[in-house]
Amino acid sequence: MNRGDLPADVGAVRTALIDWYETDHREYPWRETDEPYPILVSEIMSQQTQLDRVVDAWEDFLNRWPTVADLAAADRGDVVAFWSGHSLGYNNRAKYLHEAATQIVEEYDGEFPQSPDGLAELMGVGPYTANAVASFAFNNGDAVVDTNVKRVLYRAFSIPDEDAAFEDSAAELMPAGKSRVWNNAIMELGGVACEKTPQCDEEGCPWREWCDAYQTGDFTAPDVPTQPSFEGSRRQMRGRVIGALKDGDGFELDDLGPKVRVDYSPEGDGEGSREWLQELVGDLVEDGLVATERRDGDVIVSLQR
Ligand code: SF4
Repeated sequence: MNRGDLPADVGAVRTALIDWYETDHREYPWRETDEPYPILVSEIMSQQTQLDRVVDAWEDFLNRWPTVADLAAADRGDVVAFWSGHSLGYNNRAKYLHEAATQIVEEYDGEFPQSPDGLAELMGVGPYTANAVASFAFNNGDAVVDTNVKRVLYRAFSIPDEDAAFEDSAAELMPAGKSRVWNNAIMELGGVACEKTPQCDEEGCPWREWCDAYQTGDFTAPDVPTQPSFEGSRRQMRGRVIGALKDGDGFELDDLGPKVRVDYSPEGDGEGSREWLQELVGDLVEDGLVATERRDGDVIVSLQR
């Protein structure tokens, strides 16, 4: 096998992982449903909060607003107060979630879009979240590529540390039409067995017989970019957004992004992603410095005048 190739018996690799996941995995209540609304709530909540802590907040939230229509009808201030009361991180996520619920009710007749692209049209829903909801609710997603999945692919099959290589191999590995179980399984593998310190034998990793790292003992993980303390600090990024907006009468998020960070990418949900930029812009809106409006279906960001 060349470095960076998937094993020839990829069918056996897939079956081994799905069997391992189905035999035993961490129980989370949102894994028991295929309803898009509770799944969206769990995805938004878990962006910044440890999964174990999300469980109580998720249950309380759904008791309070059991359906997407209930959430859309709620007072936005109550949703934000709930969010901060449960220490769920940026309050903008609560506003976006409320806004997304309103969109679903008003623009989609109460029915969630079922594709990753359709879901990404919802306010505050970036490509990663859209794909997760498409997978877990509709079994209609693409292969997830997050930090955990990259670490697994890098170690197991020596996939080079490049986004395109990870995307291609993750897509090739996922069995067609099985995004629900597959994405759950591979994220579980990264979260439970192939952690920073791998637990190959302890967790009975189903890929040991194919895994390059297991065979060589080199468990290096891909580089995770680190931020120098001021370069990349939130204050500096806020300054860049304001500076960029002085040059025009408003920009769509994906046009603004590259002016703020050279490594901007609409993908993902980390630093420099569209989700990250939405957060940054949301904070500036809250501070009265920046305004957003919809023009021809796009969210346009401009200076508050
Ligand atoms: S054998 Fe170990 S290093 Fe390889 S994929 Fe499994 S947990 Fe990760």
